[in-house]
Amino acid sequence: MASSWMLVTGGSVIDGTSPSAVEGASVLIRDDRVYAVGRDLDLSVVPRAEPVERIDATGKTVMPGLVDAHCHMTYGESRFEEEIDLYTSHERRTLIAAANAKKVLRAGVTSISQPGGSYFIGVGIRDAIADGLIEGPRMTAAGRYLSTSNSLTDWYPDEVGVPAGNLGVLTNHVHEMMSEVRHQVKNGVDFIKLADSPLGEYQAFTGDEMKAIADLAHQLKRSVTIHARGSAETEAAVDAGFDWIMHGNAMSDEAIGKLAGTGTPLVPTLLLLSNLADFGAPFGVPAPLRDGCKGLLEVSADSYHRAHKAGVTFAMGTDTGFAVTPYGEWHARELELLMTYGGLSAMEAIQAGTRNGAKMLNMEGMIGQLTPGAFADVIVVNGDPVRDIRVLQDKRNIQLVIKDGSVVEFRDKEIETRWTHDRGLIYSLEHMTYDRVFGNGEEDVAGALKTKGWNMARIDIPGGDPENVPFERDAITIAPGDGRELAAEIKPRHS
Ligand SMILES: [Zn+2]
Repeated sequence: MASSWMLVTGGSVIDGTSPSAVEGASVLIRDDRVYAVGRDLDLSVVPRAEPVERIDATGKTVMPGLVDAHCHMTYGESRFEEEIDLYTSHERRTLIAAANAKKVLRAGVTSISQPGGSYFIGVGIRDAIADGLIEGPRMTAAGRYLSTSNSLTDWYPDEVGVPAGNLGVLTNHVHEMMSEVRHQVKNGVDFIKLADSPLGEYQAFTGDEMKAIADLAHQLKRSVTIHARGSAETEAAVDAGFDWIMHGNAMSDEAIGKLAGTGTPLVPTLLLLSNLADFGAPFGVPAPLRDGCKGLLEVSADSYHRAHKAGVTFAMGTDTGFAVTPYGEWHARELELLMTYGGLSAMEAIQAGTRNGAKMLNMEGMIGQLTPGAFADVIVVNGDPVRDIRVLQDKRNIQLVIKDGSVVEFRDKEIETRWTHDRGLIYSLEHMTYDRVFGNGEEDVAGALKTKGWNMARIDIPGGDPENVPFERDAITIAPGDGRELAAEIKPRHS
């Protein structure tokens, strides 16, 4: 059968492995693979009868598609943990995840790894993408996080327990851990994810438990990773033979030495913390959470700079999937954050966001680099990310996404529409006291409305700064009343 050929010409090519870009180079693609890269490519290798699709990338950057090693397709842009764990049927969650996969691709992310999510939705989405049933980045998936009662994910009171939709599964005993690993492998996961303590307060799994899980996962030909923010659990996981570590925010020199010595990659996943801390106020992120994230980022900067100096391998992860990290919006910001908080150069950050993520996809050498034989996942970028890494963050600069050697078509509507999980059962966001409704002519919304003979409660968010209210006045529609009636529909600015 005839091959299909594509030639991306004249760009500044970052191949994901070389220390610098090659100006005025071309990438020749045969079917789904990179065939050759360089200046003055010899096109006589292409049979005469086989046409070559030419793409002019003069003045642009041509680089491997990004690899996001920490992307939760099942979270559905949730605002509350309950929206991830409790609300929305798994059928609808699956359909939403399927629709959102295309948005990730639009951001130039051609591969993702999902380190945990509810049910086996990740496995289904992965297979549907691989089969061409839906369009999205190539993908690997873990199942529900293995957790203990002291881990992330067992957050509800005991009488609620850990419901079936929860992103974690409770395994307090080694035999439960073993059983869950076997069950997840049977159901098609690529790797096992453990949840240790939420913020690195302590080590939630014992070293022996980690070792037992890692040994069984490896015996069953699967990888294993862990949410480990503290030094103790990071070190224990490396000792137990975990394949890569998520976070490692607070690490001793010993823990860093073990990561570097074993070549175990670290996926810091700074984006979620940074979006919460840097941009959270106007979106209703509570002040204590913002401050907590800021504190954790300061600690992380120290750990990551030391880790970078020690030669630890970094990969890009984003924790995309929350309302503060929507699909396809912020993935490439992680590269800037790796530079800020880890001291990586722009090219090192790009390699963290491309080649270094291949391990989490089980495709080392096959993705994240533009070298002969690798899969032709290519993005054409308006701008030079080596000079300014931020050009990758604006998806208008991602001019072309090529996956498996084919240009991906996008429709604006499917990229712009947001499909969220069912929202929590909210009755109000504030206390509706008599005084706030009729009392004191308070400023702002209430004051303005009073002059029109309407009454309106002032709106703000518990724990939020009043000036950082996540609602816009013009998004509030008021039904005129007789001065004593309150009828309002309140729409969040971003939902
Ligand atoms: Zn995560």
